[in-house]
Parts: sequence; C-alpha cells; structure tokens
Amino acid sequence: MRIGVPTEIKTHEYRVALTPAGARTLVEEGHRVLVQAGAGLGSGIADGEYGRVGAEVVGTAAEVFAADLVVKVKEPLPGEYDLLRPGQILFTYLHLAPARELTEKLLEREVTAVAYETIELADGSLPLLQPMSEIAGRMAVQVGAHYLQKENGGRGVLLAGAPGVKPGKVLVVGAGTVGRNAVRIAAGMGADVRVMDVSPARLAWLDDHYGNRISTLMSNSQNIEDEILDADLFIGAVLVAGARAPRLVGRELVARMNPGSVIVDVAVDQGGCVETIRPTTHDDPVYEVDGVIHYGVANMPGAVSRTSTFALTNSTLPYVQKIAGQGLAGACRKDEALRKGVNTLGGVVRSKPVADSLGLAF
Ligand code: NAD
Repeated sequence: MRIGVPTEIKTHEYRVALTPAGARTLVEEGHRVLVQAGAGLGSGIADGEYGRVGAEVVGTAAEVFAADLVVKVKEPLPGEYDLLRPGQILFTYLHLAPARELTEKLLEREVTAVAYETIELADGSLPLLQPMSEIAGRMAVQVGAHYLQKENGGRGVLLAGAPGVKPGKVLVVGAGTVGRNAVRIAAGMGADVRVMDVSPARLAWLDDHYGNRISTLMSNSQNIEDEILDADLFIGAVLVAGARAPRLVGRELVARMNPGSVIVDVAVDQGGCVETIRPTTHDDPVYEVDGVIHYGVANMPGAVSRTSTFALTNSTLPYVQKIAGQGLAGACRKDEALRKGVNTLGGVVRSKPVADSLGLAF
C-alpha cells in the first residue's frame, strides 16, 4: 500500500504522524511511504532521517494525499479538503461529533475516515487517547511547579521543599490516566501528594503502589474543601465518559485558596472541574481569579511535540500496519477496536455517536 504522511497545517501543531522508525517498519513490510518535506521538523526530525530508512520525501501535500492511506495527527482543514478523494483511507484524530462541516465534506468526498479517538478496546479504554493523557498528567505537575515560582506569579513554593522546610502540597482529583501520571511526577519531586477519586479500586491501586508516600482520599465535597484550601497546586483530572466534567470546585472555594496557588485543570477540554476555569492556549496559558493562577490549556501535549510524536506513534503504528497489511476491511474483521474507529465510509456515517450528535443517518 502507498502510505502518505503530510505536514500538519493546524496552527501550533508540531507533531507528525509517523517517525522514521515507523517508516522503516512499513517499508520493511513492503509498503511505499511518502513523507511531505518538513513534516517532522516540529518534532525535531529531519527529512533525511526518513530518506535513510527508505521513505520517499516529496515536496507537496498533493503528492502525499494521492496515497491509498493518509496518516495524520489532526483533522483535515479547509485548505486540505480538495485533496480528499473517494475511497482514500484517512487515519487521524477527527473529533467529528461537533464538526458538521468536516463530516459533510468527508461524506461528500466518500473518504474512509478512521478516527484515533474512537478506537475502543473491549474494556472501554481508548488506546489512542491514552498516550496524550499520560503526557498531560506528567506535564501538569511541571507546569504547576513553574507557575508556583514567584517571578511567574506564584506563591514562591518549591514542591520538593528543602531540608528543614516542608514540601509543597499537591491535590490531584481524578486517579485515571492523567491523575496517575500527575501523582507519579509529584511524588517523584517529593511533594506532599493527596489524590482523590470516586473509584475505590483506583485509590487502592495507588495505595498499593505508593504506600505511605502519598494519601488517597474518596472524592466528595467535604474532602475537596478540607484539602484544597491549603493546597499549593490543584490538578483537575476527572472524566465521566461522554459527559461534561463534573463541577467539583466552586468559585467561592477558589476565592478561599491561598493567593499565588495554582490550578491546572487538565479536564478543561471537557468543560473543566473548576467553576472558574476556561480554555487557554500555549500563547497565553494562564490568568488569575481571586489571586489564584489558572492554567487551562486544552492541548497540553502540543508543548512537548517531540515526546508526544513518539508516544502517539508508538500507539498508532500497529493499527497503520494492520490497515496497510490486511486492507481496512480485513483488519476490521479481526480487530473490533479498529472497527469502532471507522467514522465515515462510502458517503455514510459509520459511528453511532457521531451520527446521533449531528442528526445524520447511521
Ligand atoms: P480517565 O477516564 O483515565 O480518568 C478519569 C478519572 O476521573 C476516573 O478514575 C474516574 O473515576 C474519575 N472521576 C470521575 N468523576 C470523579 C469525581 N467526581 N471525583 C473524582 N474523580 C472522578 O481519564 P483521563 O484519560 O485521565 O482524562 C482526564 C481528563 O483529561 C479528560 O477530560 C481528558 O479529555 C483530559 N485531557 C486533557 C488534556 C489537555 O491537554 N488538557 C490532555 C489529555 C487528556
């Protein structure tokens, strides 16, 4: 199969959908890999690294989109619509449920669109979202530590403390992928870590893993109020699948936090769990409410594009290999998770949640 890898054109998108190691694997399996010149630069990957493993570096997006399978990171933008063709397989993050114009374009052009985010394993987990949650969780502590520094507006607290001085206090609410990774970094830094969830099983896992180095607590209004008031860093990491994030921290609680403390609400992409959070961007990531610094960047992994590229492609490559090696129909017959990724096919929506949210036939 011919596999195309375009340069991402979305503002501030620096990831690329295939690494040279991935290209090498696909070439070794007998495929042709076409990479647009410059596609890897945002992730620190030079064109020559692709060339050396047998991929063909081509000058234009049109040459890449002529491939049978186009592997991307972000959804196609209007500037790419004319490159979409009937029968072409497009494998990327799509998030079609709120995107009527793009969905209609994929249907009109009869593109076979497979969305990373709807590939779902039997246990309900989303393997192509997980790597980005791992990264966002780890980053949340790093970002929080940065804004706790005095010159960045924070209260001048070092999370690790110092000999004779107690460490900073980190409260993580939500102990899923983001929360577990935040706990890992905060505990590693030597902070005083409290973590809450509504799932006893998730708390038990953390308790087994960290013993007395951290405290686990059931998530409820009382415990949140008791713990947040003297927290230096609050990390929102909750998710209720398919729903808006639950509001766990109201405006009046934020007003009672210490001035210069920091809120990193990673769940901002689902509306956030703090009443005063709103989405921000890497260009202008923080703002203040009642003296508390709020960080609400909705695409945190974008800031660490090189790490994110390698983490994402570690997870996407096996699916690219299956689609390229067996054809999409063959691969879907053997892999139910991949089948759930098919969003549009032959001018018809094939994902029920997407069809329902846009009022389209399924
Ligand atoms: P996850 O499903 O792995 O974990 C969510 C956890 O929240 C679960 O353990 C669940 O039990 C818990 N939870 C639900 N209700 C709760 C409550 N009331 N109190 C405490 N815990 C509660 O999800 P995840 O992968 O960790 O993602 C968390 C959020 O982070 C999602 O909204 C995701 O979209 C978002 N995210 C944001 C970025 C970003 O750049 N901002 C990046 C990756 C993920």
